[in-house]
Amino acid sequence: MQKVVVSFRLFKEWIEFLKDNGFEVIAWDSSVPPSKEWIKENIKDADGLLCSLVNRIDREIIDAAERLKVISTFSVGFDHIDVNYAKSKKIRIGYTPEVLTDATADLIFALLLAVARRVVEGDKLIRSGRWNQPWTPDFMIGTEVNGKVLGIIGMGRIGRALVKRAKGFNMRVIYNSRTKKEVEAEFVDLDTLLRESDFVVLAVDLNPTTYHMVNRDFLNKMKRSAFLINASRGKVVDEKALTEALQSGTIRGAALDVFEEEPTSLDNPLIKLENVVLTPHIGSATFETRQKMAEVSVKNLIAGVRGEKMVFEL
Ligand code: NAP
Repeated sequence: MQKVVVSFRLFKEWIEFLKDNGFEVIAWDSSVPPSKEWIKENIKDADGLLCSLVNRIDREIIDAAERLKVISTFSVGFDHIDVNYAKSKKIRIGYTPEVLTDATADLIFALLLAVARRVVEGDKLIRSGRWNQPWTPDFMIGTEVNGKVLGIIGMGRIGRALVKRAKGFNMRVIYNSRTKKEVEAEFVDLDTLLRESDFVVLAVDLNPTTYHMVNRDFLNKMKRSAFLINASRGKVVDEKALTEALQSGTIRGAALDVFEEEPTSLDNPLIKLENVVLTPHIGSATFETRQKMAEVSVKNLIAGVRGEKMVFEL
């Protein structure tokens, strides 16, 4: 019997699906990720691994596996896997692009609108009993989104989905990416994007060129009236530099779905700032999308073990 390890808490019906397909399944069943030792021990004689972004799949884990054929991740990002090393050992990598693109682009727009129009601040005001004045023209004024300049960094799948949404808000869209794309937006260099954008959205993957891409220099080049939105990976942003920029008024606000350390701690000074909207890494978190991600990642796993064509392979 072929054996697969699932190193995060996957929906029960998909564990059953794997069993019904004749696999021996060793599945982790807690929201707290397993230790490295647990993965190493169980992966030893496994044919496939289904992991998520909470599992760091490094050389040590890959070396512990004696007959692993596939690593399938329940994510589009693969920065948690030593992909080159796995491939050098002829281990195939499956991932879940496309199925989560629209849900993530929707969340990015939700964050953008929330921070521009002070939605969360307003909610907190009411709940804390501080809404104690009648309507006035200058109360809780935010920033208009319609007709503004959206600067997208990273014109991949999510970047393109953002372009479509921005059209509905009559936005002018400019972008910077490693390579120019056929898309209804204007390619500009990074400095121009930072100088002209009212909203700077990060839609890059985490790689050595994007680690701490948002640093003090980057933030100093943005408009003082601009907002930064990040739902890519936390480590793309130097949070210390962002905190200073938000405190000193270098930029007006930020909205973040991802953090340098997750879960982020109550000691993170970003939490204390009014001009920041925070969500707990829920970019792809809709019932529909999470089901599709489960289906794709499980099918990738099975195809990888059997030597068949995967739904999405890196
Ligand atoms: P993608 O199609 O691979 O797009 C990434 C884009 O970033 C590519 O177009 C790439 O350019 C560009 N890029 C990479 N390095 C760059 C740099 N230094 N400067 C400018 N552009 C750069 O990936 P995707 O499907 O859109 O997803 C993007 C990322 O979003 C994922 O990797 C993941 O980390 C994150 N994500 C987060 C959530 C969430 O829950 N918050 C959900 C889904 C995805 P080229 O095309 O030229 O290579």
